[in-house]
Amino acid sequence: MERILVSACLMGRKVRYDGSAKTSGDALLAAWRRQGRLVPFCPEVEGGLPVPRPAAEIEGGAGGAAVLSGAARVLTSGGTDVTAAFLAGAQAALAAARSFDVKVAILKEGSPSCGSLTVYDGTFAGRRVPGHGVTSALLELHGIAVFGEDRITEAAARLREIGES
Ligand code: SF4
Repeated sequence: MERILVSACLMGRKVRYDGSAKTSGDALLAAWRRQGRLVPFCPEVEGGLPVPRPAAEIEGGAGGAAVLSGAARVLTSGGTDVTAAFLAGAQAALAAARSFDVKVAILKEGSPSCGSLTVYDGTFAGRRVPGHGVTSALLELHGIAVFGEDRITEAAARLREIGES
C-alpha cells in the first residue's frame, strides 16, 4: 500500500512558524490516516528550526528551485538567512520519502518549504506568486508528485494511475 508524505501541520501538529497547526478536515486524508498510509513530516522543524520561529520567505519569490541551485536565499522577516535549515529540511524530507517509497506527497500550499503551486513573494506583504517551496521543488526533482491540501482529489487520481488507490 502506497505511503503518502504529508505536511505535519495538516495533520494537526502545532509546528507552524507561529506555533499553530493547519489541520485538514479532508475526508480522503482522514481515510488514508486510518489506513496508516500517511507519513507526517515538517521540513522546517526537521531542518533544525524551532517552534515558534520568525516567518520566512524566499527572496524575490524566486521559488524552491532557485534556492536549491544557490540562486536565492530564504530570509526571515528580520533578514536572517535561514537557507541552510530549509535545505537540510528538504533533504530530510526526501530521505523520509525514499525510506517509505513515497511517490505522492500532500503538502501545505503557500509555504516556503511545502508550497507546490504558490509561495509568498519575499516582501512579507502577504502576496503570493507562482512557485514551489524548497522541499516541494526537491521532491518533484526526484519524481515525487506534490499536491497542496486543496488538490487531494488530484493526489488520489495520481495514486490510482500508479495502481495504489
Ligand atoms: S514547513 Fe511545511 S509542514 Fe512544517 S509547518 Fe510549514 S507548511 Fe507545515
